[in-house]
Amino acid sequence: MSQAKPVVNVSRVLHLYVEEGKGIRQVAAEVEAGWKQVQRLLKRHGVLRPGGRYAPSSYSAKLYRQAAAKKLGRVLRRGELVHHIDGDHANMTEKNLFVTNRSGHQLLHRQLERMALRLVRNGLIQWQDDSYTFSSEMERQLKHV
Ligand SMILES: [Zn+2]
Repeated sequence: MSQAKPVVNVSRVLHLYVEEGKGIRQVAAEVEAGWKQVQRLLKRHGVLRPGGRYAPSSYSAKLYRQAAAKKLGRVLRRGELVHHIDGDHANMTEKNLFVTNRSGHQLLHRQLERMALRLVRNGLIQWQDDSYTFSSEMERQLKHV
């Protein structure tokens, strides 16, 4: 009998580590994965430097901070961070980047969570077998996008 390897949400790991600046162990705890698994994932995505030093600002973070700075017309200040509106860290188009601070950022993510829970209450996201899935109605909607 084989047991499925736990699925780690890559974009969430990148988000917590790169955008929120959390440590590997903290990220691992939040996504319920082992820290070595998180470390491997960060290396695979070029976030950790080859030497394995925990880079507080990774190469990709540098890229989108630069893109956000270009949008604002000034360098980002300490404490400012970049939120990816569509959640896709590879999408560095200016309209996908929003500069905020840590508390503003938390508010945005709480807002998204509240909205997701509203979809749950309205049956568009369903709880099934210990996890969430989109309802068939929602899947149809998503295919049109
Ligand atoms: Zn964000």
